[in-house]
Amino acid sequence: MTGPTSGTRPDEIRRHNRTALLRRLHVDGPSTRASLAAELGLNRSTIKALVDGLAEGGVVAERVPAQRSGAGRPSLLVLPQPHAAVVMTIDVRVEQVAMGFVGLGGEILGRDSWNLHHRTRDPGEVITHVVESAKLMADDLAVTAVGVGVSVPGVVRRSDGLVHEAPNLHWTNVALGKRLEAVLKLPVQVGNDSELGALAEHVRGAARASQDMVYISADVGVGGGVILSGAPLRGVGGYVGELGHMVVRPGGRRCYCGCDGCWETEVGEAALCRALGLPEDAPRGAVVAELKALEDVAKLDGFAEWLALGLVNVVNVLGPELVVLGDLYTSLPDSVVAYVSDVVQRRSLVSRAVGGTQIVTSPLGRDAKLLGAAELAFEPVLERI
Ligand SMILES: [Zn+2]
Repeated sequence: MTGPTSGTRPDEIRRHNRTALLRRLHVDGPSTRASLAAELGLNRSTIKALVDGLAEGGVVAERVPAQRSGAGRPSLLVLPQPHAAVVMTIDVRVEQVAMGFVGLGGEILGRDSWNLHHRTRDPGEVITHVVESAKLMADDLAVTAVGVGVSVPGVVRRSDGLVHEAPNLHWTNVALGKRLEAVLKLPVQVGNDSELGALAEHVRGAARASQDMVYISADVGVGGGVILSGAPLRGVGGYVGELGHMVVRPGGRRCYCGCDGCWETEVGEAALCRALGLPEDAPRGAVVAELKALEDVAKLDGFAEWLALGLVNVVNVLGPELVVLGDLYTSLPDSVVAYVSDVVQRRSLVSRAVGGTQIVTSPLGRDAKLLGAAELAFEPVLERI
């Protein structure tokens, strides 16, 4: 984050304004000089100086807008240049690794993915494959990454990228950030997958206009990312968001975390498979296909009740205006999402008080965590371009 503008030296103010301008262009896309000046509260000569400097470095380009508004000289449109700053993004999932290169402005310039099996889930194997793929993709796209963001389905120490525990990957105390930095020779930021899903929805997805939101994702496990007052909620050490391990059914199924009846055991992928009459280890494609073709939606009644019950608790505790359901939940039938929304509205005190909590499926789908990890990598980059 950049510091306050008052009482600082002129070059610090300039750097602060430059970062704010870049962030605005990176997140919201092209804009006219006049709009940028108004939105950032800067005078036009300051904007001109900043844009001229960035254009000189090839970070932005300017052109006359296609549609003119009013008489006189039109304000020039400022466009971020995707290749001016490129980050590498990696989404480690339980059954797959997806990676890509994302340019300034958020465009995915290229991507690759491969399946993980028990044998290839070893951290060393994942790192080796990432390095090989990164080199091929960078050559192919003719880009050089300036930072790396990684999403991991586990408990991650943000300060150094240590994966404390990623149970579904069978990873414990993996120094993923340090190991990737050593081989990629780039700064690496590692974050929890649900937290990064929330970040992506906040910056580029369903929650752009929401300051208080919760992202719930079901991959193999269930996790949550929380943004309150526009900032990510962090617990001690940065560990937070294990909403899937909220106990909702005492005496229920044993969870690997040591508790019985966690929300994850009732609404995770295995629970969804049981509800659909599929084997618990059915491939993801089969689960999604079954959901898409589902005629007897009543099969999901029990699953939907547990999903709604957990969400009532989440909404009562965190008070979001918006809940975004991600990953596997994006394939839920509309009637299930409507049922869950209805239950939350009726049974959550907080939801009733604010006139209803909006519950939607993620528009970013499978890309949410990939894009969230890219934003994590961009945070320090925008300050030093
Ligand atoms: Zn648990």
